[in-house]
Amino acid sequence: MHLNNNLSKKITRWYDNNKRILPWRVNFNSDKKLYYRILSEFMLQQTQVKTVIPYFNKFTREIKSLKKLSTTSERKVLKLWEGLGYYRRAKNLLRTAKIIEKNKKSILPKNLVEIKKLPGIGDYTGNILLALIYNQPRLGIDGNVKRVISRITNKHSKNINFEEIIEKNRDKLFSHSRNSDFAEAIMEFGALICKPQDPQCNRCPIKKNCKFYITGKKVKFTSPIKIKRKKYSIFCYLNKKKQIGLKKNNNLGFLKEFNLPIIKVKSKTLSLKNWNFLCNYKNSISNKTLDIDLYYKFSKKIPKDLSWYSLYNKKMFLPTFTKKIFKQVENLY
Ligand code: SF4
Repeated sequence: MHLNNNLSKKITRWYDNNKRILPWRVNFNSDKKLYYRILSEFMLQQTQVKTVIPYFNKFTREIKSLKKLSTTSERKVLKLWEGLGYYRRAKNLLRTAKIIEKNKKSILPKNLVEIKKLPGIGDYTGNILLALIYNQPRLGIDGNVKRVISRITNKHSKNINFEEIIEKNRDKLFSHSRNSDFAEAIMEFGALICKPQDPQCNRCPIKKNCKFYITGKKVKFTSPIKIKRKKYSIFCYLNKKKQIGLKKNNNLGFLKEFNLPIIKVKSKTLSLKNWNFLCNYKNSISNKTLDIDLYYKFSKKIPKDLSWYSLYNKKMFLPTFTKKIFKQVENLY
C-alpha cells in the first residue's frame, strides 16, 4: 500500500502552525527533555491530554528531574499520581527511572529491543520515545495514527498491517531532520483534525490524498466497543476506632491497587450473614461497567490478609474510587 509523497510534509507543516502548547513540548536541555517525555508518555497511556496536564505540572513541580525521580519513594510517586488511575504506570515509571539512572546514567537505550526491556514500555511507548528523543524514523502507532492511515487508505484498521505500511513507505514518510516532529504531528493531526466521530475534512491539508474523502466516506472505521457488565461485592470491616480493613492487592486483573476486599459475584449463594448493605455503585473503567454492592460490618477481628487503617489518614495513597467509598463509610460514625 503506497502513500503519497507529500503526506508527511503537509502534516508536519500543519503541525507547525496548529500544535497545542503542552508543558512537555517546550524546548529544554536534553536531560529535562528526556524526563518530560518519559513522564508524559507514561501519563498519557490510556488517558487524555487535558486530564494529564495538571498532574504533569504538579509532578514536575515536586520532582524536577529523572535523577530526582529515581530516588523518590514509591509512596510519594503514588501520592502525586493519585486520581490519575492505572497506578501500575506510576510504579513502572519509577522502576524505569531507577534503571536508566543506575545503568545508563540518564541515557535512554537507542534501540527498540533494549528500550522495551524497561518496565511499562511496550511497542507504542518504545517507538514514540525513540522518535522523540533520538529523532529516529519511527511512529508510535496509537489510535490516532491508525485512524489517519485507515482513512487515507479507506480501509478498516483490522485489514491493515500498520508496521508493513510504515516500512514500505519509509522513504516517503521520514526526512532526516524532522522525524520526531512528524511522529508527534500525525498523532496531533488525528486528535484535532481527523477526529474519530467528526473528521474536519473541509479544513484538512491532505484531503486530496485521502481516499475516505475522495470516495465519499465509505468505510466505517470504529467498531462499537462492547461494554461488559460485571457484578462485584465489596466488604468493609470497620471497628470502633474508625479504622477499616484493607488489603494490599487483589487477583481480579483490574483495580490492582484496590485495597478493599472485593469479590466477583458468580453465584446467588454468596453468604451475607452478618453483613449490612450500604449502597450500590456503578463504576466505569475501560470497557467494563462495574456493578458493585457495598457491605459493611463492625468487627474486632479481620481476616489475616487485611490490616487496620485509619479512615482519616490523609497521607495514605488511595485510588479515587476507594476514597469515594471511604466517604460513604465515614457517614456510619
Ligand atoms: S480528509 Fe477527512 S478523513 Fe481524510 S485525512 Fe483529512 S480529516 Fe481525515
